[in-house]
Amino acid sequence: RLAKQRLPSYSGLERYQLLQKIGDGAFSIVYEALDTETNEKVAVKVVDQTKLKREQATSVLKEIRIMQTLKNPSIVRMLAYHETSTHFFLILELCQGGELFNQIVKLTYFSEDLARHCIRQVADGLRYLHEERGVIHRDIKPENLLFDPIPIMERTKPGPPLPDFDDESKMDEGEFVPGVGGGGIGKVKIADFGLSKVVWDQHTMTPCGTVGYTAPEIVKDQRYSKSVDMWALGCVLYTMLCGFPPFYDEDITDLTQKVAKGQYEFLSPWWDVISDSVKDLISHTLCMNPRKRYTIDQFLNHPWMQQQPYSAEGQT
Ligand code: ADP
Ligand code: MG
Repeated sequence: RLAKQRLPSYSGLERYQLLQKIGDGAFSIVYEALDTETNEKVAVKVVDQTKLKREQATSVLKEIRIMQTLKNPSIVRMLAYHETSTHFFLILELCQGGELFNQIVKLTYFSEDLARHCIRQVADGLRYLHEERGVIHRDIKPENLLFDPIPIMERTKPGPPLPDFDDESKMDEGEFVPGVGGGGIGKVKIADFGLSKVVWDQHTMTPCGTVGYTAPEIVKDQRYSKSVDMWALGCVLYTMLCGFPPFYDEDITDLTQKVAKGQYEFLSPWWDVISDSVKDLISHTLCMNPRKRYTIDQFLNHPWMQQQPYSAEGQT
């Protein structure tokens, strides 16, 4: 066992008993903590104000203001907010499973059923942000998607071979069953609103600021800026299914070029066993032209998204 971590104590945060550090960023540290009033576990994101430049502090305050208004099962809830002269404290709903990123690494890649189970929840959260709240997240990636774990079900009796599971040795070990039940993932939620932006006034559903004098290209840009989240959603779905991202290069200049050209492939052999239907969905989402790229509603209505998990077939 690891020695107990030494945890700081922040004045102004006495209600919360810090249990362990779970995240570490440039300007923030995230802890798992116990809310001593409710006896429930929460996440506490601590931002050291003294390390922030003025415009950084402004953007953190913007993150806080946006998060305070969001309420959706696929969005990490902000439960409370405290600030002192030195720190901002964001009290967040805890996602015990941590980052979806680590679960992809752990399982190597997801079955189509498990990927659908996860991406649907992310897409539901994006639909809420884009269509109901006029918010663009701007930093959708597997590190900012968190999940609640569910126990991994074991296979109790041999059944027919499962469609998208090719490693039979693991099946014998009874380690996990592929598909939704085997992934250990329950709810998936979008976190980290540090870069997000409100583009629509939530009451009038018009662009923020004074509309009357706004140039058409700006109004249009704001309309299409939701499409940056859609691109990222396509990248996440791609990564879940094969275990590596659609655009990758060790060299940042080469990587930038690949992204700029929209150069990606369904690499063989990894993608040979993956359905044409999901490839079609990814192609429409990783579409270079933001005006032709799928919107969140087109994404959610794609036939692949409507499919039932394999394990649920024949039970109706
Ligand atoms: P940063 O701006 O530093 O990326 P994040 O809000 O993304 O800040 O938090 C950093 C990390 O902390 C996340 O990637 C995740 O591992 C962990 N984390 C953040 N919020 C929660 C939460 N509510 N539940 C569980 N883990 C969290
Ligand atoms: Mg983050």
